[in-house]
Amino acid sequence: MTVLARGARGARSEDVRRGNLSTLLRYVHVHGPTARSHLTAVLGLNRSTIGDLTSDLVAAGLLREEAGRGGGPGAAARPAGSGGRPSHVVLPESELVQVLAVDVGVTHLTVARVGLGGVVLSRRDRTWGRGPGGRRPRTVSSAVVREAGRLLADVESGATIAGVGVAVPGMVRRQDGCVQQAPNLGWRDVPLGVQLADALGLPVSVGNDADLGMRAEHVRGAAAGVDDAVYLSGHSGIGAGIMAGGVPLGGRAGFAGEVGHTLVHPGGLPCHCGSTGCWETECGEERLFELAGQPAGGGIGEVRDVVGAAAAGDAQAVAALVEVATWLGRGTANVVNMLNPEVVILGGALAEVFLADADTVRAEVTRAGLAALVGEVRLVVPALGSDSTLVGAAELAFEPLLSDPLQALARRTAS
Ligand SMILES: [Zn+2]
Repeated sequence: MTVLARGARGARSEDVRRGNLSTLLRYVHVHGPTARSHLTAVLGLNRSTIGDLTSDLVAAGLLREEAGRGGGPGAAARPAGSGGRPSHVVLPESELVQVLAVDVGVTHLTVARVGLGGVVLSRRDRTWGRGPGGRRPRTVSSAVVREAGRLLADVESGATIAGVGVAVPGMVRRQDGCVQQAPNLGWRDVPLGVQLADALGLPVSVGNDADLGMRAEHVRGAAAGVDDAVYLSGHSGIGAGIMAGGVPLGGRAGFAGEVGHTLVHPGGLPCHCGSTGCWETECGEERLFELAGQPAGGGIGEVRDVVGAAAAGDAQAVAALVEVATWLGRGTANVVNMLNPEVVILGGALAEVFLADADTVRAEVTRAGLAALVGEVRLVVPALGSDSTLVGAAELAFEPLLSDPLQALARRTAS
């Protein structure tokens, strides 16, 4: 009996230690250089425990310590009036622990090396035209592998690549990263996760672009500390990443948030999903180009061109922006009425439309939304700019390491 009880206690204390290592590493990953004294205060652990945990993470090559300097929360903390020693500052080993982050768009591809702490170390950006029939899966995966190879050639010896995170504008099966449907890419049942894992020899996680934009903005952006938020990712289509009560809302299969295909305009325009009058047919990029008299098939650069033309007084560009901003406001009111968020983040091309004509968007949200909900919501653009999705892909790739640091590292080292 005694032996069993002791064994159970040992297992429990190992679980507690694993949980504490995860909490400490995640805190420094999100908040950057942090004084040990601050970690003691915010994590609610005593000094010697923080010292032991830090030593373990330093020995594993995940964190390093410097004597009392640097920025970040609590980095300058000193015992008041004591004249005593400065606290050690704990930093993430951004150069030694990295992931690859991939943002696949309809007209762009970005591949980046991101260090622990969320630092983008290097990146490669490509843009391409919206080809007929969409972007072929093999072309995209080959391009990802090629750009990843170029980035990995610069990695210092001794550094660990913990994994790869990929954002795709489509519905992704969580278990194996299969893209079940990505209408704007023209993809169905594309085993992207398996293809990339085989080609790169690294663990690969794939997620929906809006979900990952939400994740990044929740961890280190416009929704940091906010439990109820929606990230609207808008390019040729519109998707929503939803945080409800501090937890991502996925639905049964993880496909929740396909707001671009909610019906806003009965009898409206045909949508490539097979329906008509979907929200994204009224305020996606293609509609803006059509209304502005611009050629189809552009991306974010061409959206900015329309905004620039409107600012210069081009009447057709002005009218196009007002029309698209009106529909953006109407659809956003639906989102607000349905989910009661504290923050709605307008990402991608929607950010450009919102910044160009926020008055129209706000007026429509106020007109179509319920006062009790509209009064509480803030409409903002991403704090991470156009990199929300990319940063979210990096966060996805870091997650196994952050959840169980030493175990994940042991697995990577053994493989
Ligand atoms: Zn549709």
